[in-house]
Amino acid sequence: MAIKREAGDVMGIVHVGKAKTVYRTERPHEYIVEFRDDITAFDGKRKASVAKKGYFNAQISARLFELLEEHGIATHYIRMADDARMLVKAVDIIPLEVIVRNIAAGSVVRKYPFKEGQRLNPPVIVIDYKSDEYGDPMVNDDIIRALRLATEQELATMRKLALQANAVLKKYLGTRGLLLPDCKLEFGKASGHILVADEISCDTCRFWLKESRQSLDKDVFRYERGDLIMAYEEAAKLILR
Ligand code: 5GP
Repeated sequence: MAIKREAGDVMGIVHVGKAKTVYRTERPHEYIVEFRDDITAFDGKRKASVAKKGYFNAQISARLFELLEEHGIATHYIRMADDARMLVKAVDIIPLEVIVRNIAAGSVVRKYPFKEGQRLNPPVIVIDYKSDEYGDPMVNDDIIRALRLATEQELATMRKLALQANAVLKKYLGTRGLLLPDCKLEFGKASGHILVADEISCDTCRFWLKESRQSLDKDVFRYERGDLIMAYEEAAKLILR
């Protein structure tokens, strides 16, 4: 008798990342992304496992991908397979981290004379090469071209989509009492199209409470600013409301 397969059935691992595992499904054009409870920072030097972290990041990502889709921005998201696993379109990830910054925080404050909390208008885009081996270095157009990480047209599309996504996310989060100092977007290619991929969550964005500017994101883990899961749960409550 043939085994009936469900959407959540997995057929082997495509990729194991620091916080997510990507599985093949019986459909070659669809993958399952599992959001694990593992968390790392500082190039994997600090590691932990925090119960329910994967669940909150999966739920937040799903909502924010849906939001982008509602605004005509194509993403890899199809639907949730279960609480912490997402059915997505299979893409080839472009190894670039496109970071859009609305308020100065984190590495730009450490590396440049920006003041923490300084508004950046228009937003500042920073692109890093996604590589643990090289420590995610910042790249410019010439390096991207010379390493053949993306074509000029792909790069222009990613920049345009990143700014559009940032504007949609910033506005939505604003109605939920949150500021979006920055977000890191990754893109994938499927059938010649560029889609927003990976995740959009407390691990990949800075979310600050509007009034207090309290972090509800991975900075809580990076800089030991309190209880991580309470922060992620509060972000989820506001974003999924
Ligand atoms: P920063 O450059 O200040 O460290 O990070 C800017 C934003 O991009 C933050 O929201 C941060 O979480 C995100 N980001 C940058 N690089 C990475 C990375 O390698 N992994 C993850 N999860 N987020 C990153």
